[in-house]
Amino acid sequence: MESYLAELNEAQRAPVLQKDGAMIVIAGAGSGKTRVLTYRIAYLMSQGVDPFNILSLTFTNKAAREMKNRISKIVGSSEAKNLWMGTFHSIFAKILRFEADKLGYPSNFTIYDTQDSQSVIRAVIKDMRLDKDVYKYKQVYNRISSFKNSLITVKAYFQNPELQEADAMSKKPRMGEIYQAYVERCFKAGAMDFDDLLLKTNELLNRFPEVLHKYQSRFRYILVDEYQDTNHSQYLIVKALSDKFQNICVVGDDAQSIYAFRGANINNILNFQKDYENVEMYRLEQNYRSTKNIVNAANSIIDKNKTKLEKVVWTANDDGPKIVVNRLLTDGEEGRFVASSIFETKMQNQLSNGDFAILYRTNAQSRAMEDALRKRDIPYRIYGGLSFYQRKEIKDILSYLRLLINPKDEEALKRIINFPARGIGQTTMDRLSIAANQYGKSIFEVIENLDHLDLKINKSTRNKLENFVNMIKSFTILSENADAFVVADTVTKKTGLVQEMKKDGTPEGVARIENIEELLNGIRDFVEEQKELADSSGSLAEFLEDVALATDMDKDTSDEDRVALMTIHLAKGLEFPYVYIVGLEEDLFPSSMSMNTRSELEEERRLFYVALTRAETQAYLTYTQSRYRWGKLVDAEPSRFIEEIDDQFLDYLVPQDDYKYKPLIDTDIFGEVDKSKLRQTKPKKGTPPPAHKPTEQQLQKLRKLKPAASEPAKATKTVNLAEGNEVEHMRFGKGKVLKIEGVGQDQKAEIDFENGGIKNLLLRFAKLKLL
Ligand code: ATP
Ligand code: MG
Repeated sequence: MESYLAELNEAQRAPVLQKDGAMIVIAGAGSGKTRVLTYRIAYLMSQGVDPFNILSLTFTNKAAREMKNRISKIVGSSEAKNLWMGTFHSIFAKILRFEADKLGYPSNFTIYDTQDSQSVIRAVIKDMRLDKDVYKYKQVYNRISSFKNSLITVKAYFQNPELQEADAMSKKPRMGEIYQAYVERCFKAGAMDFDDLLLKTNELLNRFPEVLHKYQSRFRYILVDEYQDTNHSQYLIVKALSDKFQNICVVGDDAQSIYAFRGANINNILNFQKDYENVEMYRLEQNYRSTKNIVNAANSIIDKNKTKLEKVVWTANDDGPKIVVNRLLTDGEEGRFVASSIFETKMQNQLSNGDFAILYRTNAQSRAMEDALRKRDIPYRIYGGLSFYQRKEIKDILSYLRLLINPKDEEALKRIINFPARGIGQTTMDRLSIAANQYGKSIFEVIENLDHLDLKINKSTRNKLENFVNMIKSFTILSENADAFVVADTVTKKTGLVQEMKKDGTPEGVARIENIEELLNGIRDFVEEQKELADSSGSLAEFLEDVALATDMDKDTSDEDRVALMTIHLAKGLEFPYVYIVGLEEDLFPSSMSMNTRSELEEERRLFYVALTRAETQAYLTYTQSRYRWGKLVDAEPSRFIEEIDDQFLDYLVPQDDYKYKPLIDTDIFGEVDKSKLRQTKPKKGTPPPAHKPTEQQLQKLRKLKPAASEPAKATKTVNLAEGNEVEHMRFGKGKVLKIEGVGQDQKAEIDFENGGIKNLLLRFAKLKLL
């Protein structure tokens, strides 16, 4: 037996050793599905399969790179280099470039990112004079995206009365026209959006049998990771390509399907056996990633879902520590707790920052975490959110680069034609835009032909436009022989972008210049890497494609040791020794938008399952009592997901008696009462009183960890106040007590402050000094 096969258990080895045919591996988190794919590829190569004939589709390009590295170690890097591995989008963008002319696109087509696409949609809505409050551009974008992912073309839309009716019902009867205008503009700009990369691949394979045949013959062996999250468009591509040889291996876990909101279809996994002949079905049951406590807790959660395939997941790993649950007063407190817990755990166990991850439901939650980590000097990295390549100054430079590669690229042109300022105003742009639409040409082409067109543009503006076009053309000529770095460096200097920023002189301006330097360094690294690989010159076009298709995970270029912060959606497939899942509150997680139907709620629960199963050694769950949502401080209730975990796996840091109850009265951290919330809250219906009190050991732990976060939840010593007393408050200064109400814990006072006016304060929180 080849020695690497010993690194698999028997159940894992079976799908690796089955060389041909269709097979599906369905198994829970951490059971080695990705490992099976990796070793299967190595095994195929050792059996003489040419790496050019193996296509492997992964969730991120980073995952593909990691698999490739592992395979290189087994079979040698010169061979592994030739594997087709990457995301659906990056693999099929390459194929589309090669075949672009068949679909009427230039091979240098631009890939529009979400920002670009939304900007086109905004322009269409504006030009059609539609109400932008009814036709919200993000909603329209999502709708169009869902059409494309279900292969509903514009033509198909207009042939489908049901779809049109649905849009009319939601007060958007002109959705179809927007869709049509959007598609036309993208086409005219020589641009494909993300969804087009799949849609057009389908079109290519459907319309051109010889092309289908070519790629079917090339990809003799196809492998797909995270199959549960493929959408209809991806499913059809895989189905078409694998149809000839039917050597297809997919792995997935229905319990981790978390992209239904983006069109992922769990039925792809459920129907696999019907789609191919003689499907072998494999199951893996042993989890190698996590402790018993984590595995069992995760099992107890997913058990609550009704729609699922029955699976066994067990582990031979240690019990490990229980899952820590903590309640904090605010998100600031939550951040401080997480930061100090990371700090202490790291010190106690000699760990690195990279051993920790903080996972949240929404990007907005990162801010409180960042603040706390920064205060503790703990380096961190945020994945997702506004990425480096979407920052304004970076996007400006990239727009120049995009335009010189594809002069039809309208979004790029609009961004930079007057940046830095060249005296080309909005009126001129509007005239050019109208002419472009009228002649069915791009704005760039209109400018090139100004002399032959009868446009109301004066001589001096014509000169400016001509100079602009000539500058871009000179860059294009340069790019024909120079590598990406030389071009980018020249563009940065010649356009005067950096000079413009230097004038600025503010710290933000300096930061922008540094970002541009970082971009140039990045391009230089890219070029060197490409040249080393020997099969490429590191051209600008290649660099732009790399940038356009880098997923959020892929932008992890630094080797620095940092705590990882990301949404749970992005954490799929990853693992970390210590995982903090924060914001476990009703309406946040599960999200308020996903509680209308059982299937939505079940998707949230799967998301929680994904989050928890990222942890190897220990997991922490936190929630707050109140949180700012849409600018208002609101009551928060602990997430039902905490209750759903069997108590034996949990370690509460707060006395559990308090746990399922809301605070009687809300206050902000300074003890101010929000009058609108003065109501008594009851325990949730149907929840039995908490089963057990914290043990002495838990309380000790609580005492040990608590000081790290200050102790707002505990009553501070209340002073004995009477009406008429003079007091001092840390924020509002001196004041006079007007009225006292309530008793004990709930005693509050109305006080007239010099600095704050009349306030209602809960005395146990308001740290008042009697004067
Ligand atoms: P997910 O569902 O989260 O994507 P997965 O099923 O793909 O998980 P892997 O990531 O392949 O699981 O494996 C989980 C961890 O267990 C990895 O660290 C992997 O290296 C390790 N592992 C898997 N199989 C074995 C094995 N037979 N022996 C030792 N370690 C293993
Ligand atoms: Mg995996």
